[in-house]
Amino acid sequence: MPPKTRRAGEFELIARHFAPLADGFAGALGLKDDAAWLGAESGQDWVVTSDALVEGVHFLPDDPPDLVARKALRVNLSDLAAKGATAKVYLLDAALPESLDEIWLAQFASGLAADQAVFAVHLIGGDTTSTPGPLTLAITAMGLVPTGKMLRRSQARIGDDVYVSGTIGDAALGLLVRRGELGSLEVADRDWLAGRYRLPAPRTALGPRLVGLANAAIDVSDGLVADLGHVCETSGVGATIEEVHVPLSPAAANALAREPALLDRVLTGGDDYEILFTAPPAAADALKALASALDLRLTRIGAICEGQGVTVRRRDGETRQLARGGWQHF
Ligand code: ADP
Ligand code: MG
Repeated sequence: MPPKTRRAGEFELIARHFAPLADGFAGALGLKDDAAWLGAESGQDWVVTSDALVEGVHFLPDDPPDLVARKALRVNLSDLAAKGATAKVYLLDAALPESLDEIWLAQFASGLAADQAVFAVHLIGGDTTSTPGPLTLAITAMGLVPTGKMLRRSQARIGDDVYVSGTIGDAALGLLVRRGELGSLEVADRDWLAGRYRLPAPRTALGPRLVGLANAAIDVSDGLVADLGHVCETSGVGATIEEVHVPLSPAAANALAREPALLDRVLTGGDDYEILFTAPPAAADALKALASALDLRLTRIGAICEGQGVTVRRRDGETRQLARGGWQHF
């Protein structure tokens, strides 16, 4: 078993930076016991998900620590939302290199505190070890959904409409901006796209409201086409989406107007953290009402059909299908 962190004040680190994040959740016991407890909730299931971030892989040493924290938490909240669950608590496993300074940890914790307030979640435990490798932070988040109602990837049915929330492709374009590309775009558009990449907005208000309306759901982390492909594969169906219906932000539309070839990035780029879901046509009116209640775009982009894989109907009527590893042209 790898050694626990031996640095002086290890328990102080937890007490100073992490214990305040457990305030307000009785079962966390102030992070002073071996474990936390959760009351069993009648009529509800716990939904659990976990994501790890490794320095140098998922974030860079000079990324602001509070943003690293918020992104780490938000990607988990996005998974819970896509399953129809309302997030409640999370655990944090931290593998800290000896060289990590405490200021980094303090800023990391302040990012968590800020998002705990936004999303009404609490830290209830975790583990802290030292590592000879890169800083690694894993968050495990838990949320509640009515019993038996967790939204699954595998429940898409032939004839379902395919919807996506918000706008697609912003994060992929934002990553390009971060790399110094898209120089011909207005500064305001560049900043907005970069912001969508830096800090996702998990659709926590939407997810739980999709229970009872959606058949299948997934969050868009790998890319629109790839994630719809996951739904198709686990559901044993195919899907066709209309390129012209894929919802674009004004900034993304401006980028595409300048460089139409960026469209593939919009369709296949990751990190949007929108919710992609399928629903029977009978749910259309309820979904329209939900979109206006939440003031959030819900766009029908296509339909589930027999067959397999995702077919994209382009603007000019030509169709393409995404095969494993890339586009297949017809
Ligand atoms: P043990 O050695 O019994 O596993 P630890 O010393 O690892 O206990 O942890 C003591 C308490 O501090 C536990 O409640 C644990 O959940 C909490 N804890 C440890 N590390 C973290 C962390 N990174 N984030 C939140 N809670 C933590
Ligand atoms: Mg113990």
